[in-house]
Amino acid sequence: MLEKAMRTPPKPKLSALLLAAWLAGCAPPPNPAPPAAVSIPMTAPAPPLLPVLRGDPGFQDFVRGFREQALARGVTPQTWFAAFNGVEPVGGMGEIIAEQPEFVRPIWRYLDGAVSARRIKDAKIMLSRHADLLAGIEEKQGVPREILVAIWGMETDFGTSIGSYNIFATLATRAWMGGDQRQAGAERELIAALLLLQQQDFKPSQMVASWAGAFGQTQFMPTTFSRFGVDGDGDGKIDLWHSTADALASAANLLARQGWQKGMPWAVEVTLPKGFDWQDADLGIEKSLSEWRARGVKSVFATLPLDGDIKAALYIPAGAHGAAFLTFANFKVIMKYNNAASYALSVGVLADRMMDRPPIKAAWPAKDPLLSRAQRQRLQAALAGLGFDSGEHDGLLGTRTRTALRLYQSQRGLVADGYPSMAMLERLDREAEKPANPASKAP
Ligand code: CA
Repeated sequence: MLEKAMRTPPKPKLSALLLAAWLAGCAPPPNPAPPAAVSIPMTAPAPPLLPVLRGDPGFQDFVRGFREQALARGVTPQTWFAAFNGVEPVGGMGEIIAEQPEFVRPIWRYLDGAVSARRIKDAKIMLSRHADLLAGIEEKQGVPREILVAIWGMETDFGTSIGSYNIFATLATRAWMGGDQRQAGAERELIAALLLLQQQDFKPSQMVASWAGAFGQTQFMPTTFSRFGVDGDGDGKIDLWHSTADALASAANLLARQGWQKGMPWAVEVTLPKGFDWQDADLGIEKSLSEWRARGVKSVFATLPLDGDIKAALYIPAGAHGAAFLTFANFKVIMKYNNAASYALSVGVLADRMMDRPPIKAAWPAKDPLLSRAQRQRLQAALAGLGFDSGEHDGLLGTRTRTALRLYQSQRGLVADGYPSMAMLERLDREAEKPANPASKAP
């Protein structure tokens, strides 16, 4: 389906002329592996331009092999050449992926960085500096300006930190590394990035991105751009790198079209009663506010009466010993932007703080020792050894590991909060060493 971004007049003739002129200016690189000298008949078609590639030969093979797939999706040989000429693989990608802060940093440290006093102050300056722009977007899309500015701050510190990777190098590296479900996604993004180069007047060197391939002031992935990018300043182009209006309008468009509910909060902080059934504390389990109230859930700040049919899901980012939130549909809409609950929480809290709402009231278990990556992998392996499917033993504690841990806790009669504490790892270690030992009920 053609989305709005794609309907923007791409000025194909001008682009093609510019590209041709640009290509003519670059001396075509020597073919690294020229065929043995043969006489080519005058009628033979010109051989394809082959980009100079560097680094791992496997990477180079991948890029050359990707040409056919790209051309089948409408990418021209010239675009493919322009995108990949001079490209080399991004080193250390495996480590970069493993250190994503959303997955490895405890929530209170992640929040400290995301919602720092400095960022709240800067966010308020941006609210005031871009008041007219934000009012217009809010009016049109129904997404609060504070949420938009919070996303802008979280993604690139208000456009000041937009990434420095070559988008084609980083996406090709991810696609080449493959081996998991990330490969197909990276290939789709790579095609979308090539089409973006082809349809808009950008140079490849201007298309800088994060290691993940997200670009511009609000860090859109190429496929997200093709679905949700809009022209916010009315100049006929969509430029998320240089136009704050385009970046914020596109972010609002994404949230609106993913189901943002105008006038609804993202979440409220709550307290849970003693003896609460922790199995229900899961973003996948939604109940009405009345039902949560009947279970003894209470709003901390009484900003929203816990009553009525509105559906909400409980989120306990640090398990039973930290803050708890009833999250609404808008929380999951923010997760469409970046699929991490810690990210959505930070965006919401930052937006609240911009409105001078109080910070999170509950204390975090900040004195608990943190699990290292090796310990997180050990926890995953121990769960698997005991028959609980904890996913890949990669040290990233995602939904699958938490679900496995919760199941384990539940079967052992423990508080089933799915939180990977040091005490829980020690318990798992002990049990994994004695697999024959029948499950004992913990005090
Ligand atoms: Ca524009």
